[in-house]
Amino acid sequence: MYRTHTCGELRLADKGKTVTLAGWVQKSRKLGGMTFIDLRDRYGITQLVVEADADAALVETAASLGREFVIQATGEVLERQSKNPKMPTGDVEIKLSAIRILNKSSVPPFTIEEQSDGGEDLRAKYRYLDLRRPPLQRALALRHRLAQEIRSYLDGQGFMEIETPYLIKSTPEGARDFVVPSRMNPGTFYALPQSPQTFKQLLMVAGYDRYFQIVRCFRDEDLRADRQPEFTQIDCEMSFVEQEDVLNTFEGMMRQMFKNALGVDIPNPLPRMSWYDAMDGYGSDKPDIRFGMKIHEITKLVQGCGFSVFDGAAYIGGIAVEDCAEYTRKQLDELTEWVKRPQVGAKGLVYIKIAADGTIKSSIDKFYTPEQLKAVADACEAKAGDLVLVLCGEKRKTQTQLGVLRIEMGGRLGLRDPKVFAPLWIVDFPLLEWSEEDGRFYAMHHPFTAPKPEHEKWFYSDKKEDLERVCANAYDFVLNGTELGGGSIRIHDAAMQSRMFDVLGISKEDAEYKFGFIINAFKFGAPPHGGLAFGFDRVCALFGGQETIRDYIAFPKNNQGRDVMIDSPSNSSWLPPTRRRSREDPTELRFARAEYLPDEGVLRLLCRV
Ligand code: ASP
Repeated sequence: MYRTHTCGELRLADKGKTVTLAGWVQKSRKLGGMTFIDLRDRYGITQLVVEADADAALVETAASLGREFVIQATGEVLERQSKNPKMPTGDVEIKLSAIRILNKSSVPPFTIEEQSDGGEDLRAKYRYLDLRRPPLQRALALRHRLAQEIRSYLDGQGFMEIETPYLIKSTPEGARDFVVPSRMNPGTFYALPQSPQTFKQLLMVAGYDRYFQIVRCFRDEDLRADRQPEFTQIDCEMSFVEQEDVLNTFEGMMRQMFKNALGVDIPNPLPRMSWYDAMDGYGSDKPDIRFGMKIHEITKLVQGCGFSVFDGAAYIGGIAVEDCAEYTRKQLDELTEWVKRPQVGAKGLVYIKIAADGTIKSSIDKFYTPEQLKAVADACEAKAGDLVLVLCGEKRKTQTQLGVLRIEMGGRLGLRDPKVFAPLWIVDFPLLEWSEEDGRFYAMHHPFTAPKPEHEKWFYSDKKEDLERVCANAYDFVLNGTELGGGSIRIHDAAMQSRMFDVLGISKEDAEYKFGFIINAFKFGAPPHGGLAFGFDRVCALFGGQETIRDYIAFPKNNQGRDVMIDSPSNSSWLPPTRRRSREDPTELRFARAEYLPDEGVLRLLCRV
């Protein structure tokens, strides 16, 4: 037996026991002839002591310990003279009678403690050392806890966990596919799943009724703090359900996760907001409702007064920022530059300051009377002491810019506390999105989402305006300004699915080639069904109060999609030779090596003959 206890376990009640611990030396220091060692494992840290008058060999071994040596240590549990209330084991220490070095360690490239002195790149290269640090161990423990809650809840609701394949054909989730060349079928490729969408629907056709999977998905997209090329979804599908059934089921799951993992009670029922209200009031389909500062349209109030910028705009909207009327010229100039950055994209910024005594000052004083400006301030629900910020332009674009500005101001005012949780459902999404650039419709969610039954008449119309009005029973779960999940009630009728591909400009041949299998399956008694998927990494990060998902993934990739620890992707990979299938087929290719030729942009497969 290597140990009797873990390094996080011993308390004053264990005083007098002889124990054996095993773990990593976090620190060792000499003090007046005594050696103190902090021994760490996943469970905590325990202080070990080698007294000055201990056996000479023991003193010598203790002196030889370096950081991250793996040792086994035996001794007696004593009450500590100077207790450390910050450590759960801080009341005790172990007076050692024996140390066995189980393995030595090279000097680690950074400190492996709560806070590390290592930079991000260095820690990524030695991820297995970074993973020894308590914050990362806590992050992965939270991930584990949440996964257990999900499984226990869904199992209790009759869901079956079923795995679906990774080597498949393209799934239309709107990103680029990762592809894998097939050795057995030269010249052909598999695509890695962007989601198990088509398979989970086929499981409904197959009668499995309630499916879930905590599953890896792959999307070749530009990366951000909350995006990885491979990420994990909690993927679910249910048969014989309406939107209400799906929302209630997964609200229940979230409620259990919040309660059991964080001890937090979320509202029951959760608030719901239509996509249109979210866009109009928050300039985002993932509104952060931890704070107000809603967007208000003021187009009618300000047009026709001679200010040409407003007169020529399709939409004018404003937000009232609390207690910021004192903003200086310099701060307002800085904010104007901020909204002009390409990430926001506004052309300029108009402000109205309502001083504490009610006096109004504005960058458009010349064109408006104080009464008119007061009316604008009132429309934006500003009170004395507030600052109204106004943007104008094309409607949705301007609302989105105001939404970005709102989030920025909310952050500056400290209104986005990660320990406050404000979840909600966004519902009633438009089914389709028109792209001016491509002159065609795209599916707002994905092409398997059904139109609302009451909007079907518009779905079958050939007029663009009609199609633009069609809404879907599609829904997103949003938490603190982040979309954590989304789904929809699906099409389960072959003819309607074909119509959808038509509307999306996918030719009959293309639809048949890409999705013939699902259209065909719908001809064999597909039940009404719907479902959703949550981004599990994001769920973990937000529950942990963080924005970046990387700490919640054991071995993540960096911003360039690289794993710098194993050095991947790499430009060559060895493939073991294959055996000929038969003497009659001497032409069969036997790949020996795959090599990427960057200048030519091709993958060369070298053959052995
Ligand atoms: N497959 C969808 C997604 O990955 C979720 C769903 O519709 O269930 O976004």
